[in-house]
Amino acid sequence: MGGPLSSELAMVIADMPGVAQDLLRKHRRTAEGRCPVCTAGPQGAHVVHPCTVYAAAASALTEITRRRS
Ligand SMILES: [Zn+2]
Repeated sequence: MGGPLSSELAMVIADMPGVAQDLLRKHRRTAEGRCPVCTAGPQGAHVVHPCTVYAAAASALTEITRRRS
């Protein structure tokens, strides 16, 4: 995790107040170790956690914290 796409996404998320925290809550790891939201296509199973969104939101939160310091 943490490729160019997710880091770009992280910067976008970091610019929107409250969104990183909201995404981390919604995409929280299930007991099965998967994302409860993201699936691999319309008929696909839920993806293994952390999904791209969760990883980006976690990076966004780090970025928000860094900006505040
Ligand atoms: Zn997800």
